[in-house]
Amino acid sequence: MEHLFQDIQYLKGIGPKRSQQFKRLGVDNIFDLLWHVPRAYFNRSNPDKIKSLVHGEPAAVRGVVKGTHSSRSRRGMNIFKALVQDDSGAVTAVWFNQPFLAGIITSGQEIFVSGKVKGTQGAWELNVSEYEVLDESSQHIDVLPIYTLTEGLSQKALRAIMMNILTEYLHHYPEILGEEIKKQYDVCDIAFAFHNLHFPQDGKAYLRARKRLALEELLLFQLSLRLEQAKSQPQSSIVHIEKTDLVQDMRDKLPFELTQAQAKVVDEIYYDMESPRRMNRLLQGDVGSGKTIVAALAMARAVASGFQAAIMAPTEILAEQHYLSINRLFNHHEVVVARLTGSTSMGERRMILEALASGQIDILVGTHALIQEDVQFWRLGLAVIDEQHRFGVKQRALLGLKGDMPDVLVMTATPIPRTLALTVYGDLSVSIIDEMPPGRKTVQTIFVRNSDGNKVYDFISSQIDENAAQAYIVCPLVEESEKQDLIAAVTLYEELREDVFADIQVGLIHGRLKAAEKEYIMERFKQGEVQVLVSTTVIEVGVDVPAATIMVVVHAERFGLSQLHQLRGRVGRGNKQSYCFLIGDPHTEDGYKRLRIMEKTNDGFKLAQHDLMIRGAGEFWGVKQHGLNQLKVASLVKDQKLIETSQRLVENLNWANCNYLENYINRKFKKTQHIAGN
Ligand code: ADP
Ligand code: MG
Repeated sequence: MEHLFQDIQYLKGIGPKRSQQFKRLGVDNIFDLLWHVPRAYFNRSNPDKIKSLVHGEPAAVRGVVKGTHSSRSRRGMNIFKALVQDDSGAVTAVWFNQPFLAGIITSGQEIFVSGKVKGTQGAWELNVSEYEVLDESSQHIDVLPIYTLTEGLSQKALRAIMMNILTEYLHHYPEILGEEIKKQYDVCDIAFAFHNLHFPQDGKAYLRARKRLALEELLLFQLSLRLEQAKSQPQSSIVHIEKTDLVQDMRDKLPFELTQAQAKVVDEIYYDMESPRRMNRLLQGDVGSGKTIVAALAMARAVASGFQAAIMAPTEILAEQHYLSINRLFNHHEVVVARLTGSTSMGERRMILEALASGQIDILVGTHALIQEDVQFWRLGLAVIDEQHRFGVKQRALLGLKGDMPDVLVMTATPIPRTLALTVYGDLSVSIIDEMPPGRKTVQTIFVRNSDGNKVYDFISSQIDENAAQAYIVCPLVEESEKQDLIAAVTLYEELREDVFADIQVGLIHGRLKAAEKEYIMERFKQGEVQVLVSTTVIEVGVDVPAATIMVVVHAERFGLSQLHQLRGRVGRGNKQSYCFLIGDPHTEDGYKRLRIMEKTNDGFKLAQHDLMIRGAGEFWGVKQHGLNQLKVASLVKDQKLIETSQRLVENLNWANCNYLENYINRKFKKTQHIAGN
């Protein structure tokens, strides 16, 4: 087994020079090399016929080189072309900035090229992304791996080394699954898997190989989480024992009944708060599912137990709104709620900090201002972070570092399935609100072309006349930018006010206004004095004005799915029918798809999955070095069944005698770093 971790430089045929090349690829030993997964494959058994090429589509063509040509573009870019012919026609293969190809690709060779097709019948061009000159050494293999390379290392050389590794060393790789389990989950041997990942016999063998190695990766990942948990001492923290009736009192006076899902989640949180183990809980719930009240009840529990609580929100508007609604919830009780944001005046800030340190303030609501160093609590018992995805890893952690090991609750409205959440968020416990408050009507979502935008504004003014409706109109930027011809909020505001909405009260809110101005406008909108609120994305998260029933997003194609869903979540909060108009002319297929998906689904879980698929894990969570990014075969989106399987296997098997796996795990997840917690 040690063989697998031996420095690659001592292998047959690999000297110091080669090993330097491998090290540039992050490959130090055989184990790494086996996990150097092909980024694509050539399937030569089934090439496309040149006569059936389609403009704009990808294609893979096999033919003979009839001639080559090197030239230089006006901007000095080298262009290399080769005319490739098969029995149905000819295509010009084009490479950019690879002048050395003139010495590699020559007339008479058989070649395999793939890339994107441009042009028309008779004048096809292929923008080459992959190519392979065919010779005896690779003649007999149908499917060839394409690896990520580095300078000095060719596909051919890497394939030869890989072949050698597979025959000479693969048998050292341990099989961690017993026969029974392999049968039960219908997975192949590890050896078969590696062979067929690198050199698939055929499509079917590749799929079996992929499944097994995806499971292998996920299993090692789950085990790495286990090992870490086993090593870290459970953190002890505050035990919240109620000394007053505050919680019961509050529950009796709630303006509505909790949904079952909310009640269950509150129970889970209380259970954690009572226990001496530190709470580190993620609360997932779709936009509008009612997370704020859950947070408020958690904070009530802390206060009733003689501690302070804090809640941090990503924007001033949201902090202000939380401040008002939390104040309202607690106003029959002797609970002191204060707010601290970036625009709190110096004098007020000093007073708040004093009162906080001496214990006169029970609940502190605020923005990033809460995590500044000089903010000190008397006895912080619970830290809540709302819309956690809007904060950085460090910022989230900082609030938990205030006080002496307070319990921590983080909340998010980009929910993902439980198994995935448990995997991604490592040592966090997960609570899910999977139910909406009663009486909600599904928001009707309509995608509208720019040219039809006026119809939307006409609809709004009739809804205001007939149903006393209120509407948000959201634009992406504050001022006209020269580069992008966005309709800026300011211009739109002025246009609308002078034209369609001449008889209607229109407000404007954006990030550059002072906090007091924002507050004033929000308050007037809340009171119904302003019917149409033109806004930038400052209202994206959390804003809660139940009477508003229309959301218009201008240039909707510029927003991601989660953002659109958040914006849409500002309406549909009461029991009236709500509408969301997405106005835009998407330039890309993806952009168009996003808007269509929005029309079709209101389910935040589904949308988060789409978003994850479109943007990938790193972008979605905004954490690049996360251990999950080291997954090379498994996909967090496509392999959710396997994620479940891996969890079951880790729970049910006895891994005690698998200590040796630690090496593998450490090797595989070199930089494992969890998103939350620390
Ligand atoms: P989010 O989960 O997006 O933060 P909020 O906490 O802002 O959602 O709640 C959305 C709206 O639903 C608020 O107006 C809130 O008062 C209301 N709400 C929350 N829970 C219930 C419930 N159980 N029954 C009725 N309305 C509720
Ligand atoms: Mg919220």
